[in-house]
Amino acid sequence: MRAWSVVRPGPVEEDGLRLVKKPVPVPGEDELLVRVRACGVCRTDLHVAEGDLPVRRPGVTPGHEVVGVVTAAGSAVRGFAAGDRVGVAWLRRTDGTCAHCRRGAENLCPASRYTGWDADGGYAEYTTVPAAFAHRLPEGLDDVAAAPLLCAGIIGHRALRRSALPPGGRLGLYGFGGSAHLCAQVALAEGATVHVMTRGAAARRLALELGAASAQDAYAVPPQPLDSAILFAPAGELVPLALRALDRGGTLAIAGIHLSDIPPLRYESELFYEKQVRSVTSNTRADAREFLALAARYGVRATTHAYPPARARQALRDLKAGRFDGAAVLVDEGC
Ligand SMILES: [Zn+2]
Ligand SMILES: [Zn+2]
Repeated sequence: MRAWSVVRPGPVEEDGLRLVKKPVPVPGEDELLVRVRACGVCRTDLHVAEGDLPVRRPGVTPGHEVVGVVTAAGSAVRGFAAGDRVGVAWLRRTDGTCAHCRRGAENLCPASRYTGWDADGGYAEYTTVPAAFAHRLPEGLDDVAAAPLLCAGIIGHRALRRSALPPGGRLGLYGFGGSAHLCAQVALAEGATVHVMTRGAAARRLALELGAASAQDAYAVPPQPLDSAILFAPAGELVPLALRALDRGGTLAIAGIHLSDIPPLRYESELFYEKQVRSVTSNTRADAREFLALAARYGVRATTHAYPPARARQALRDLKAGRFDGAAVLVDEGC
């Protein structure tokens, strides 16, 4: 089969990411073999291709927002059959036995493994996934629309829940990219008042179109105090601003994997009155199930740009250069 391979991690403008021939993978006994129909292009794929993330599997095939169809299953798999449509996401395996897994926090499992980093992902004709980590996709979502929900959507959703937004509450979103614009749609559908603080004029326009009550510059003060805020921008200097924007008892969730240094906090104005700061790490399968169901119910939609799979490297170059809004999706028209 044709598959992209990180032959030599480095800038995607060069040719370390190559389209190669690989054998069709053989699913392990608890795994599904999946014919890939669509695969979203996530910024993490860029980090894998460029070597920002350490190499965990030499020559890995990136891609962890996969929508495809089951074509075969290992001998121990129950509950899936050939022809079933499934989603394959970032979280690939956990040990299921550590203290975190046992209390329902498998996102914190020290033994966790990831699709398109520890194992070959969806920039290929076929991929595999442990059946226990494959997601069933609601009928109402087509392949291309569903793909970006599998990483950006799920992570944004966990961030929303970590922000402890009360019903009908006031939510501030700092940064408004792929994850934020999906999470905003759920919050709005559930009756929240949403204020967006972000740099780009196009992103502010999109926020207002989706129903945000206000949209202003990244460093602006929202027009009312917030019950909850989520920091999507990887900018630590926004943490004190976001904390000052919270009402008493409010919660700030920090959604990113990376954040620049947070400046010193002023206790009286930024933390007192029981304000809380929380980080967000990966996601659990329960987060994914909840979000995918809500996305179908509320009609959550990502802005997508289709690329043929043979142009995956160009899609990553365009992502890096900011040449499109929304999410790129590799779409295999031939299957
Ligand atoms: Zn564990
Ligand atoms: Zn991702």
